[in-house]
Amino acid sequence: MPAVLEISGLEKTYRSRRRGARKALDGFDMVVESGEVHGFLGPNGSGKTTTLRTLLGLIAPNGGRMTLLGQEVPAALPQVAGRVGAIVESPQFFPNFSAHDTLSLLAEAGGVQKQRVTEVLELVGLRDRATERVRTYSLGMKQRLAVASALLKKPDLLILDEPANGLDPGGIREMRTLMRGLAEAGMTVLLSSHILGEVQLICDSVTIISRGRRVAYGAVAEVLAQHAGGGVTVRLE
Ligand code: ATP
Repeated sequence: MPAVLEISGLEKTYRSRRRGARKALDGFDMVVESGEVHGFLGPNGSGKTTTLRTLLGLIAPNGGRMTLLGQEVPAALPQVAGRVGAIVESPQFFPNFSAHDTLSLLAEAGGVQKQRVTEVLELVGLRDRATERVRTYSLGMKQRLAVASALLKKPDLLILDEPANGLDPGGIREMRTLMRGLAEAGMTVLLSSHILGEVQLICDSVTIISRGRRVAYGAVAEVLAQHAGGGVTVRLE
């Protein structure tokens, strides 16, 4: 089976009058295999957001290749967005809508069959609370609703950008259970983070990025053992 995502030699230079040229990605490579939770770890400013925005078709890279399930995808085109589901900002929902109403509305707008709403509610463990208003939800539950909405279109890859931001330890544990459950259900998740502990707790494998280049990758335990005290600066919790 081909990798869900394969990126090779990705290049991105931002140019602005004030700051001149800034190389954000410098030949970046990454491989995410099917059914895994893959951590994308790197310090602030290392190029994670630039990579994710490229994956979502929001910005065009200056060079490199990207394939989804072995199929080359032209970067920055709308078809990329349909195949990659993402939660990249703090989720905002109508507080007086229930999770079921919210997802039904999104499904209708996106041309997704109603049946899928029940499936995603089940997948994220919100089925029992699906008819309650979102304003009664904890932050962790809102995160799960955001995951559910990203899953509506059955994406090949689910991207989560700093999902544990603002969550308490209980919320982080819930997030871990959810990620593991999704992987067991055959989904592939890319989790971007600058927190080593989060990646260690949740992910199977990891890619470490520093200054726009991949500096390490592989099974989490091996990579982190090799890099303990090494040249990669990550915030430890
Ligand atoms: P963070 O976690 O802080 O968002 P990051 O790893 O996601 O960091 P990027 O946001 O991809 O890193 O930034 C990589 C580099 O590109 C940084 O040096 C940043 O200053 C620069 N950069 C990012 N966006 C722009 C932009 N729109 N214009 C100019 N430079 C940018």
